[in-house]
Amino acid sequence: MEEIKPPKIENKINVPEPWAEAELKAEKITEQELEVYNYIFSEHTKVIPFLKGDADKRQMDDQAFLRRIYSNASKTFGLGEKEAEMTFYRLEILRVNYRPSSNVDFSPEAIEQNMPRYLEYYRECRKSMIVGAAMNRDHAVSWRPEQFKVGCTALTLDADLPDDQPAIHPGANYKPTKESKTRCAEKHAVEGAILYNTKLIIAITIVSKESTTGDPSKSCGALHPCLECRRMYRDLLKKGILREDSIICSANDSELDEEGMPSVIQEMSVKELLDLYKDDPEE
Ligand SMILES: [Zn+2]
Repeated sequence: MEEIKPPKIENKINVPEPWAEAELKAEKITEQELEVYNYIFSEHTKVIPFLKGDADKRQMDDQAFLRRIYSNASKTFGLGEKEAEMTFYRLEILRVNYRPSSNVDFSPEAIEQNMPRYLEYYRECRKSMIVGAAMNRDHAVSWRPEQFKVGCTALTLDADLPDDQPAIHPGANYKPTKESKTRCAEKHAVEGAILYNTKLIIAITIVSKESTTGDPSKSCGALHPCLECRRMYRDLLKKGILREDSIICSANDSELDEEGMPSVIQEMSVKELLDLYKDDPEE
């Protein structure tokens, strides 16, 4: 098993609470509803046994997993299961739609100041991002008989989304014929973010069972981005959309650990990754 490298976070700042006191009052959210929401939310983000089995099985696991959460919530809070579920979704929709009253400042200075908070947010949702990337991989299209498949999630801050909460964009590789040009999972996710006028890519998570993009001498425990993608990262760095301290997290789930997560997870800052590939040829 490879060493898991945590990103360097200088100072930890807590992610803001989803609601301020005033919103709780305005939306008439009761204390118990909030407790139910927090309970279900934290259960959601616990280790999810999604990665085991094939896609159909996983979807059933997914449903069974959610049912179990609602059932536990109903026992814990003395509610019906449906009521627990509806409480969660009502509050989740409110949380997602919550808009700050002030305009979001996307200046480089503001992003610099908030970056530790965004990286902290990434760390909180990393498991979900890995699971999401593995699920996105099910949509990958590969011409190869042995099916080269990669899934991705990108955590970004987008100007065209209603608030300053980071968004997650999905990606999967697409190469239907041997002759077609590969559209990598990372490119797919980044293109999706760009459609929402992304101002910052906080982290990109890639999940695959592969360890090389074709050059065995560059084999890694978890798939590293290909030359094209590294060029894309350099371009995004120049544009300020990607930062040197943004995270690239590669996971290989050909083997799973006891929690059902990929046994190899490699995390690097963009700077660390690009430093590894300093000898990349110019375009
Ligand atoms: Zn690529």
